[in-house]
Amino acid sequence: MPNLSFWEKETFFKDIDYAIVGSGIVGLNAAITLKEKYPRRKVVIFERGILPIGASTRNAGFACFGSLTELIDDLTQQSEVEVLSLVEKRWRGLEKLRERCGDKALDYKPFGGMEIFREEEKAIHQDCVEKMPWFNDRIQKITNNPETYLKADNRLSQYRFSGVKNLILNQEEGQIHTGRMMQRLLQIAQDLGVLIFNGIEIKEVLEGQNSPLLITENNWEIPVGKVLIAVNGFAKKLLPDVQLVPARNQVIITNPIENLPFSGCFHYDCGYFYFRNVGKRVLLGGGRNLSKIAEETTTFGETELIQKALQKLLKEVILPSTPFEIEQKWSGILGVGDSKNPIIKKISDNVAVSVRLGGMGVAMGSLIGEEGANLF
Ligand SMILES: Cc1cc2nc3c(=O)[nH]c(=O)nc-3n(C[C@H](O)[C@H](O)[C@H](O)COP(=O)(O)OP(=O)(O)OC[C@H]3O[C@@H](n4cnc5c(N)ncnc54)[C@H](O)[C@@H]3O)c2cc1C
Repeated sequence: MPNLSFWEKETFFKDIDYAIVGSGIVGLNAAITLKEKYPRRKVVIFERGILPIGASTRNAGFACFGSLTELIDDLTQQSEVEVLSLVEKRWRGLEKLRERCGDKALDYKPFGGMEIFREEEKAIHQDCVEKMPWFNDRIQKITNNPETYLKADNRLSQYRFSGVKNLILNQEEGQIHTGRMMQRLLQIAQDLGVLIFNGIEIKEVLEGQNSPLLITENNWEIPVGKVLIAVNGFAKKLLPDVQLVPARNQVIITNPIENLPFSGCFHYDCGYFYFRNVGKRVLLGGGRNLSKIAEETTTFGETELIQKALQKLLKEVILPSTPFEIEQKWSGILGVGDSKNPIIKKISDNVAVSVRLGGMGVAMGSLIGEEGANLF
């Protein structure tokens, strides 16, 4: 790549007030927030991919905020206040996303979220049922619904799963079209005048004398006023000390299936697997627990072990009596850590970071982007 010309420096890269690194859901929401707040300031996003290829264009599109097994497990590691505050963040994030993009653009469908339990998970299911009134009571303050979680075993005969004994419905969850969400956010950012440069990877953020200097992979030096790093699963490369581990998630999708007996989002095997309908298709992902170390990677790709597990689950449990084809497979990279709390902080006067959204970035991303932008 050649050096930057005088003209290029004088135009594209001149007087950047705010630079955002990464154009996923967090980076886009941060840029939109800054432009709404400061319409005359120059807000630029640097995105290394031709598309924002990380997690935001590759996820499952669950508009979810916590299944009961997950929340019960969280309570073994975090205080009640922390767990409920995360639920609230996810809920408020979803509200913000829906308000910003509109349900039509998101293709939002309020089909509910369901957690399913096998015979061998009877005790886990029983524990969820016993704790359900406690959660409904606390979460009512967030969702305004006294019965967010409901026993709904009666749906199982219609869904025709194999080996599933119990079902708990979260009435307030929904689903979105992930690609349409990102297209809409990109459109909103561009309409507001945010400049998005694709194909530029930031290698280093240096603290200049008065303001930061971005060093790109091809060694261009770009001075900027302030920087927000929003690269989630890829953060370690820019910030080696950040407490974050990348986590690859593999996904498959079937052909359209006539008379698909279910719609909605499903959590299976205590959340290790997730599936939903996308129109008449079934999208299924997860299985990272089968090969945890190997999946701690920023390299996209699919493995035989997890692909086989996903196909087995489809054939034996989800669609036991229906022929199907796997039409596509892909993977995405998210960022996890010891805590489920995102990292939103300033690391110097002019540099901040908004990362570690775990598996619920669709829910939290809008809020986390906004909170990152508001640090300046
Ligand atoms: C398969 C899968 C399924 C998921 N399902 C759900 C779900 O159903 N519901 C839910 O709520 N959440 C889900 N998630 C999580 C959610 O998608 C993420 O938490 C969220 O998208 C993270 O957004 P982000 O903007 O922080 O990161 P990303 O979307 O990963 O964006 C980061 C961007 O930074 C860019 N980048 C990286 N390094 C650099 C650099 N050095 N210079 C310039 N650019 C850089 C990347 O190219 C990328 O575009 C899922 C994730 C995956 C992978």
